[in-house]
This record gives sequence, C-alpha cells and structure tokens, in this order.
Amino acid sequence: MTRIYNFGAGPAMLPIPVMEKAQAEFLDYHNLGAGLIEISHRSKQFDEILDSCDALLTELANIPSNYKILYVHGGAQMQFSAVPLNLMARNDAKKATYIETGNWAVKARKEAARYGTALSGATSEATNFDRIPEFDPATLDADNSYAYITSNNTLFGTRWHSFPDTGEIPLVADMTSEFLSRKLDISKFGIIFAGLQKNLGPAGLAVVIVREDLLGLALPYTPSLLNYKVYADDHSLTNTTNTFAIYMMSLVLEWLKGEGGVGAMEARNEAKAKLIYDAIDNSDFYRGTAHPDHRSIMNVTFNLTDESLLDSFLAEALKNGLYALKGHRVVGGARASIYNAMPLAGCQALVDFMAEFERSKA
Ligand SMILES: *Cc1c(COP(=O)(O)O)cnc(C)c1O
Repeated sequence: MTRIYNFGAGPAMLPIPVMEKAQAEFLDYHNLGAGLIEISHRSKQFDEILDSCDALLTELANIPSNYKILYVHGGAQMQFSAVPLNLMARNDAKKATYIETGNWAVKARKEAARYGTALSGATSEATNFDRIPEFDPATLDADNSYAYITSNNTLFGTRWHSFPDTGEIPLVADMTSEFLSRKLDISKFGIIFAGLQKNLGPAGLAVVIVREDLLGLALPYTPSLLNYKVYADDHSLTNTTNTFAIYMMSLVLEWLKGEGGVGAMEARNEAKAKLIYDAIDNSDFYRGTAHPDHRSIMNVTFNLTDESLLDSFLAEALKNGLYALKGHRVVGGARASIYNAMPLAGCQALVDFMAEFERSKA
C-alpha cells in the first residue's frame, strides 16, 4: 500500500504508529475479547483512557492546576455557541469583543451575537484576512465578559505570533488548527478550545481547557450538554461520549510525547513550514498569500503567479500522492496544511514537486 500525503485542512492525517496501534487493538482491546468501542464509557478500560488523556494533555500543554480539561461533543463550531453561553453573563453588560482574523472568527462572533453584544475589536477583512490586524487590548472596555481570538487562521494561513494581554478580561482562543503545535503559556487564557480533527484525532469532539473561576457562570437557558460546569462535574461523561475519538486522541498524545513533546514538535513544525515558504519565496513562479510577518506554520497558503496553471498544478500533485492541496474558495490558490502528523518528508515531497512542476512549465 502507498500512503498519500494529505495536505487537507481537516480531518488531517494521523501518525502511522497511531493508526497501526488502533488497528492492532480494534478487535480485541488489551485481551478483553471485545473492541473498546463496544464497551461502556463507564468501564474501567475507558476510565483509564480518559485519565491518560488528562495526564498527557496536562503534561504536554503544561496546563496549570486551576484549569479543567473538558471533552465536549460537537467539534469546534459547537464551541462558538458554548463560549458565549458559558461566559457572556460574566458581566451584566453581556458584551464580548471578537478580533476578526478570518471566517472562523467572524462566524464565532455572529453566533455569539445571539446571546449578547458581540463587538468586532479589529478586522483584517479589507485585505482579505492576509494578516492579523493591529489590536490594542487597552481599548477594551472593562465590562467585556471576554475577548476572543482565533489563534491560527486555517483558511488564510496566518497566526498570532504573540497574544494580546487582555488583563482582567478573560482571553478565549479557538486553537483548533494549531493546538499542541507550539509552546504556549496557558495561564494567559481564560478558555482554549480545539476541535480534534487537525492535531488531536478524529472529528466530532473538542477539547476545552477552562480556568476554574469561569465555571458556573452560564446563562440560565444553556443546554446542560453545553454547560462547562456540568462537564467539569461529570468528568465529561454526562452523556455517552465518543469513546473512539477520545481513545484515538490518547494514542496521538502518547505518540506526541514519544516524539519529544510540544517543544520538539514546534521545532519540527518550524522546519517543515520554512522548507515550503523558502520554496515559495525563492521562486517567481509561486507567491505566498499571507503577509510574511503573520504566516502560520500549520497552513501554508500560496498561489501560482500564473493562476491559469493552478488546476494543472493540483492535478499533477495528486498524481504524485500529494492530496488535497486546493486552497479554500474564499482565498483561492493552494494550501498545504502541515499539522503535527505531517512528516518533514511530506513537505520535502511537496517542495520537490513544486520545483519539478516549475521546470516543466519553463
Ligand atoms: C476546522 C476549524 C473549525 C471547525 O471545526 P468543526 O469541528 O468542523 O466545527 C473551527 N475553527 C478553526 C480555527 C478551524 O480550523
């Protein structure tokens, strides 16, 4: 079997050792005579997996003890509702400020507007979100319930290189497309969340890391299954959770630890991204889409200077095992999503192909 390199934005490729281990344990989990997905979410076996996720996430992301880790159904976008439902009422003004760095941030703000006043603190829409806009947190009114950012902008290939200091106002970050790809000071945030399907495992669940003092503030009509306090009290087992997704995540976390942890992964990710950005910058045939000072190391967006060659570029790439390089329609061009599980060899294969394609058109 030949495995492709999947450059799609998500669901993303998973490490081969993780897939192999899941395959080996699928029919008979630890000599149980049954697969893990066939048994109770309250079984001893699953309990151990949940505990192992807590321990590994705490270690890998360096999560302080005054934070809770929740596993919430519904993926990342469910959090666009859950965040305002849980936090909008922190202040009587029921007001929050969103920094609009792309479609996900805009979508999150519009969803929050159903539950309170959701302001736009800054936006880079005028330049089609090719950068992180200037934003001075001192301009935030003190009665904001929270401030909100998307730390890595999946569609546009930008990221916050450093984070705004919002002081007493809790900072909320959607880290879906970069969680555990770079070292982070969790204590700077009130809430971090990430859908699993980019760096953590299969789709359909989100990890939510929430500071304890922000629990218990939910709007009265918050559905129980979106209430962080309920999840925290029940160790995320209020309903039957997606045991398979959590199991897969536990394997991914074990793998990440074995690879040297987040610091080692960050260095590898920097090297992977640099390889592709250098190929773009050293050629007139390709051009980057995101402002060079704001580039993501997870999603590399670029185009061909002669855009009429794009379709042929994508088709040839696919023939070479380089899958799903088409950019999102709001940006156009190409996008290489190179999450943690994408090996350096995959990025090298892309760069080699780019050079070969350029030569073939010279
Ligand atoms: C992929 C992505 C989402 C959407 O995730 P779903 O699980 O499909 O809701 C939200 N935010 C960001 C930053 C993403 O990259």
